[in-house]
Amino acid sequence: MDFSALTKKSSESFNQHKNLLKKLAKGQTVKCEQCQGVLTLDLKTPKPGQGVARCAKGCTEIVLELG
Ligand SMILES: [Zn+2]
Repeated sequence: MDFSALTKKSSESFNQHKNLLKKLAKGQTVKCEQCQGVLTLDLKTPKPGQGVARCAKGCTEIVLELG
């Protein structure tokens, strides 16, 4: 599977994003590292096959390749 995570962070967070996507896919709750708000997965992105995980405040916004 080809995951590409487009964030400001380095590729060190690559595996973090994969785990994040796994958890969200399972319906588990994932919290924002900064505000501790619950991240939601938004599938209404311009590109098909992508989703955006974000918190209500917007401090976390991670683009996930859904495959
Ligand atoms: Zn946040």
